[in-house]
Amino acid sequence: MLRCDFCGADTDIVKRVAIDKDYDRLTVRHVKRYACKACSEKKEQERQERLKAASTEGRKA
Ligand SMILES: [Zn+2]
Repeated sequence: MLRCDFCGADTDIVKRVAIDKDYDRLTVRHVKRYACKACSEKKEQERQERLKAASTEGRKA
């Protein structure tokens, strides 16, 4: 049995999530977390939102 790092639920199926990969890699290297299905979907949505926000904001050189 594994535990979700986000909601704390015990679950058989977790997904490894590298939360810092897309937005904070200068300060934090890949922090691997385990997320249950619901939380991994939520994280994926948040990541999509960030990508969208980043593309409207433009890239910093
Ligand atoms: Zn969870």
